[in-house]
Parts: sequence; C-alpha cells; structure tokens
Amino acid sequence: MSDLYARHKAVLPDWLALYYEDPIEITHGEGRHVWDAQGNKYLDFFGGILTTMTAHALPEVTKAVSEQAGRIIHTSTLYLNRPMVELAERIAQLSGIPDARVFFTTSGTEANDTALLLATAHRQSNQILAMRNSYHGRSFSAVGITGNKGWSPTSLSPLQTLYVHGGVRTRGPYADLSDAEFIAACVDDLKDLLGHVRPPAALIAEPIQGVGGFTAPPDGLYAAFREVLDQHGILWIADEVQTGWGRTGEHFWGWQAHAAAGPPDMLTFAKGIGNGMSIGGVVARAEIMNCLDSNSISTFGGSPITMAAGLANLTYLLEHDLQGNARRVGGLLGERLRAISVPLDYVREVRGRGLMIGVELVRPGTDEAYPEGAAAVLEAARQDGLLIGKGGGHNTSVLRIAPPLSLTVAEAEEGAAILEHALRCIQ
Ligand code: PMP
Repeated sequence: MSDLYARHKAVLPDWLALYYEDPIEITHGEGRHVWDAQGNKYLDFFGGILTTMTAHALPEVTKAVSEQAGRIIHTSTLYLNRPMVELAERIAQLSGIPDARVFFTTSGTEANDTALLLATAHRQSNQILAMRNSYHGRSFSAVGITGNKGWSPTSLSPLQTLYVHGGVRTRGPYADLSDAEFIAACVDDLKDLLGHVRPPAALIAEPIQGVGGFTAPPDGLYAAFREVLDQHGILWIADEVQTGWGRTGEHFWGWQAHAAAGPPDMLTFAKGIGNGMSIGGVVARAEIMNCLDSNSISTFGGSPITMAAGLANLTYLLEHDLQGNARRVGGLLGERLRAISVPLDYVREVRGRGLMIGVELVRPGTDEAYPEGAAAVLEAARQDGLLIGKGGGHNTSVLRIAPPLSLTVAEAEEGAAILEHALRCIQ
C-alpha cells in the first residue's frame, strides 16, 4: 500500500469508492493522456470520469482560467458577473428549452437538488418518479431518488420516490422484448403506478444511465412517457450530467433521442462543461425557474473563474465539432469493440452511443453479473496503460468507456487493442 493510500484511508471516509487494488495518483494530463506519480502514462478512456469534455489541460481553458484568476475571483451572485451571463445565454440557447432560465451550481448533485426543489415547489408535491437503476448524486435528496441502491447509502429521504421501469433492459422480465414491446410494457407500468397515487411532481431520468452501466433505452421511450406525464401534469427532468454536450454523437443532449417528446421541462448538467472546474446547473422554463417564493443566493455557483473555463471549453467544443468527432470516432470504436467481443462468451453486449460505450460482462457460460471479471479487466487495462470505468447496478459488471471528446482514430484503435488484450486476460 502506498504511503498516500494509507494516509487517504486514515483520514477520508470508508465509503469513498476508489478504483484499483493499488489506487492511482494522477498528477497531470495532456490531451487524452494522464500520468501518475510514478511517471506511468495512461490513455484515458474515462475522461477523468467524464469531467474532461474536450481534452486534458486544454490550453484555451488553462489560459481563460489563469487570466480570470489573475483578474478577480470574487464570487457570489450578489453582483453582476459577465462570464456567468454569457455562459447562461449560450446554454439557454443550446438547451432547446423555450424561454429558458439557467441557474449554476457547483456539481451535478446540487443541480439535481435544485431541480427537485423547483419541481416540488412548482407542483406542491414531494413525490418524485425516478428510474430503476438510476444515479443522481450524493446529497440527501439525490440519494433518495437514486434507484441504483449500490450508490444509495441511506434509505431515508425527504422525498417520496416511486421507481419506474425503463432504465435497464438487458435483465429481468423485459429482457426479450422488442423495442416497441419494451416501450409499451414500461408505459403500462407507469400508468399502473399513476393509477394508485396522487400525481408526483416530476419524473427525473438520465436519457442514458451513466453509473447504471451506459444503458441506452430505445429511442422514443421518454416521448411515450411524456404523453402519460402530460395527462397528469407531471414535469420531466432530464439529467444530462453524463449525456450532455454531444457525448452521444448523434445528439447534443441525450433527450434529443426522444425528440418527439419535445424538450424536457428542466435539464440538469455538470461534469464535462467545466473541463475539471466545478460547474453544474439547471435549465428550466422561466415559469418553473421563477416559482420560488423567496430570494436565494449562491456563493460559488457561477463563479467567474469556473464560468471562464466553461465558456472557453464550450467554444472549443463547438468550433471543433467534437460532437461530430464523438459520432465518427465513437462509431468506429463501438464497431471495433463489437468485433472484438464476438468470440468472447463473457461479453453480453456492447452498447451505447458516440463516445459513451458500455461493455457488459457475464460470468462465462451464464447470464449472471460478473463483477470480478470487470474488476480484472480494469486492472489488466491499467497495467497496459489504459484507464476505463465500470458501472451497472449492484454488481458492477459493465465496462464504461467515455474518453475526452477529442479522441483521435489512432487513439481509439490503440485503446481498443489494449482492451482486447485485457478482455482476453480473464479467459
Ligand atoms: N447525475 C448523474 C447522471 C451522474 O452521473 C452524476 C455523477 N456521477 C451526478 C448526477 C452527480 O454529479 P456530481 O458527482 O458532480 O455531484
């Protein structure tokens, strides 16, 4: 055990999850690579757990942050703040939500918390619909709507949550259904639930579940849900913390795969937009955003320094069409991983969109989750210089691949070759 790991264990909470038996201390990064304290170089297929949207240490972001830090880092929403207004204008316009208002937070958790505050106040109900297998953060209210109980450390909650089917498809009673049958079954389940309760305030859902294992529901699932929600006056909150900013390739936001539903009433974002700086936020129709009765303030949400990072990062993303890159390079990587997996009977599925690709493992010759297999692949890939993530329900058996969106074709091929070797190690 390294000295730093021993000190970490002595002073930080036991429930803070760490990857790898011998956890890595990352000291710096560049482009799609990071280095550890021993000088080992890794190709980063987890994008600093999706926080690196464009590239590590992107010079444009570094410059914007240092210039802003050298000028002023006075925070708090009590004063006008130009970078905050500018970033809000750009996100409002990109969101697709009509008459959009933006509120900045410092994390995805706080963004979801705020969306729940708004939804419950707007609808005067503390009942929330959430998806099975979902993850929405680690605050008291976010934990209370997290369906993935492996990441929900308390069953107490200020909210009453009802869980809806539709997140996981590869397992359980819905596994063998066609897309249309799956959607119909999930809609029936939702209708049945709503037949027995007073209308909840909102449904919160990740368009593709992140921590839950990069599950991609059939296009149109949320459009079908939306019809039912509208009949009951229930709001739809899309948690775009992982799916936003073009990561899914075909769409800028995950909700757009369900476009017949129109834009959600609210969307929440975080992770990648700050390229490592802590930015989260909520976009909501003005009528919803402005439903609160009293004044509010945020000390760090919208701080000029993080907003400067967000503006530079978003500008780079759009100018370099990284959404298109996610579609092209992600498409090639997905195909390559599918081809690699054909002879491997312990790969159940390669799924996802763009640069959000999940590889679900099963215990060889069975349909059971295979967490030791996933952990072994992670370790083997690390030995060969590749960082990937894992996720998926209680038994984390899904390898998660989400590199910075500037990944090149050569890097995709290099990473796929390492992953092929790592996958074969568990044979
Ligand atoms: N929502 C989703 C979909 C997430 O994946 C996460 C983080 N894994 C969060 C919310 C919480 O974000 P944060 O860790 O920034 O609080």
